[in-house]
Amino acid sequence: MQLTNSLTMKKEELVPHEPGVIRMYTCGPTVYGYAHIGNLRSYLMEDVLEKALRYEGYQVDRVMNITDVGHLTSDADTGEDKMLKGAKQERKSVLELADFYTQAFFKDCQKLNIRRPDIVVPATTCISDFIALVSALVEKGYAYLAGGNVYFDTSRLDRYYVFGNQNAEDLAVGVRDSVEADSNKRSKTDFVLWFTKSKFEDQELKWDSPWGLGYPGWHIECSAISIKHLGEYLDIHCGGIDNAFPHHTNEIAQSEAYLGHSWCKYWFHILHLNDGGGKISKSKGAKLTVSLLEEKGYDPLCYRLFCLQSHYRKPLTFTFESLDNAANAYQKLLARIASLAKEGQPDQQAAKPWQERFKEALDNDVNTSQALTVLYDMLKASLDDATKRFLAHDFDQVLSLDLLQAAEKARPKEAGVPEELAREIEALIEKRAAARKAKDWGAADAIRDELAARHVVLKDTPQGVEWHIEA
Ligand code: AMP
Ligand code: ZN
Repeated sequence: MQLTNSLTMKKEELVPHEPGVIRMYTCGPTVYGYAHIGNLRSYLMEDVLEKALRYEGYQVDRVMNITDVGHLTSDADTGEDKMLKGAKQERKSVLELADFYTQAFFKDCQKLNIRRPDIVVPATTCISDFIALVSALVEKGYAYLAGGNVYFDTSRLDRYYVFGNQNAEDLAVGVRDSVEADSNKRSKTDFVLWFTKSKFEDQELKWDSPWGLGYPGWHIECSAISIKHLGEYLDIHCGGIDNAFPHHTNEIAQSEAYLGHSWCKYWFHILHLNDGGGKISKSKGAKLTVSLLEEKGYDPLCYRLFCLQSHYRKPLTFTFESLDNAANAYQKLLARIASLAKEGQPDQQAAKPWQERFKEALDNDVNTSQALTVLYDMLKASLDDATKRFLAHDFDQVLSLDLLQAAEKARPKEAGVPEELAREIEALIEKRAAARKAKDWGAADAIRDELAARHVVLKDTPQGVEWHIEA
């Protein structure tokens, strides 16, 4: 498989440290609010990567942290802890807040068919591991104490900015967000490993440490949790592109200083989901959540299809119009699959080249739109229905669009409609949609009349056309 590696910004052949096994780490959510669909774009594409690797026969060991402490409102180690701020606003304890939004996060993931990683670790359960890592960095001379906090000393590194695409804009983040520069830092790029004296004294969760009562910085949690569960050599580290700097840059600095060798070979970054106002972000108070999509009548899997239609390395703009298009495409896809006869045995020989084509698309830097094209081409090809159903099911191990189950539900909308008739009606509905798309209103109306003559009533919904037969 070829993946674009942020270290080089090139597509590289994936060669794991241990043949056949992929050790994969994902930065989990900061659980002070609902995930927005931008966050979920990242988790969704990471899910596709994990499933693609499994489809190819790899064993995937995947770990995700839950950030429930230490992530400040500014990337420059200033501002309030996001969790504490959220807890105050909601009049909950930090751990109650974390528990609530962790559950909400996994509920959203479930609705989008995002598999929960086997190992999920809240940061607050690993404090002794963070202290051990920070102590080792102090001992090795990579960290210093100043003003009560422990800082990583970036001047000890040969190279701090490791990613191939780091540009002035990325690097300005720390400066831009830094309302008050931290005067304890010897260098602007140094960062906090352990806080004891922050500008606010009311941090709810504090732990004893060799440097006094305090709490960990955000970056240390991912290094420590990854090394604890996945060992010294990580194959793939994932996250949204905003985390490349400073979060991932700092993770690399700490981990490699601690281990004494290079740590993670491939960095898989997902580009942002934007709306009209730029990057969708939690701090802007954006309310584009899975629940909102559901309230508006969308099946969350339409959003999954919307994401799969684009490449993860390209920014994606969200509009409800484009979601409507995805919803229509999803409905059509299900109607097409629902029209396949269920009888018969798949022809494995005939299926093989299609599986190869699907694999090629995934191998090509997880090209999900190419993978969808393989699905569409396969459904149009001269294969028997049983083989098509088999392949749709096979591809769905990665696409996770519930293709067969949802098609089953989309089948006869009413008990008692014979399958043959339901298929005929759905074919007519598809033809009408095509006519409408081509702005051939005459043809579209003629089909509607034909359906009406059969007592079929149509209803246009955001998820496509629904129908029933009038008594
Ligand atoms: P957070 O909960 O803020 O720690 O973010 C969780 C994940 O979502 C991280 O991997 C972020 O990089 C990612 N993320 C944040 N905003 C967006 C966005 N608009 N589009 C895609 N990914 C995002
Ligand atoms: Zn992380």
